[in-house]
Amino acid sequence: MSFKDLQLNRPILRAVAEAGYDNPTLVQEKAIPLVLEKKDLIVSAQTGTGKTAAFALPILQQLFDRQDATKGGKKVKALVVSPTRELAIQIEENFKTYCTYTNLRTTVVYGGTSIEPQKDILKKGVDILIATPGRLLDLHKQDVLNLDYIETLVLDEADLMLDMGFIDDVKKIERLCTREKQVLLFSATIPYKVEQLANSILNAPERIEV
Ligand code: AMP
Repeated sequence: MSFKDLQLNRPILRAVAEAGYDNPTLVQEKAIPLVLEKKDLIVSAQTGTGKTAAFALPILQQLFDRQDATKGGKKVKALVVSPTRELAIQIEENFKTYCTYTNLRTTVVYGGTSIEPQKDILKKGVDILIATPGRLLDLHKQDVLNLDYIETLVLDEADLMLDMGFIDDVKKIERLCTREKQVLLFSATIPYKVEQLANSILNAPERIEV
């Protein structure tokens, strides 16, 4: 299978080709069509399998299709929650690469650093936000982040997120995203507590294991 078979638009295909990707990885082959169908997903995949592009590419594709409708007053429409700052930064670097030839805007916010510059960027408007849970909730509390327009919520490294004690934060974030939305849960392993979280917030999810 090639990336062209996955129904991605030219600007995205161009960025993927320039990144040096010849063919989709297994998790990308399985996940991309389902994300484009707006399914909820539970994906068990380790880092290194290409799982970031498995959610990033179809998210960009969906938003790219409607760019004209979203001109002016950009609202956050896709939110990726990541347990650590390092992972969050990596995810955003991936999104930046893949959206080079689109007008979509991304940013990353995390704790342990000044909140003011992050507020300024959010006020200017972004389409895609990558965040660690605590800082995300802080920014929401300070009224600079509207989660009412989130169409796709990604919980990355869900097992790690729960091991780090973020369960209540994650549930709160899910509730703050008020719109009916697609939820994509990625986890290296699916222990019982991840299963429970999935049961409480996903809607008839498809399962992918790689
Ligand atoms: P991830 O599992 O998302 O952390 O990705 C692991 C690495 O694989 C990253 O450096 C990606 O840039 C790279 N990668 C993702 N998809 C592909 C692909 N289809 N072909 C080659 N490399 C890829």
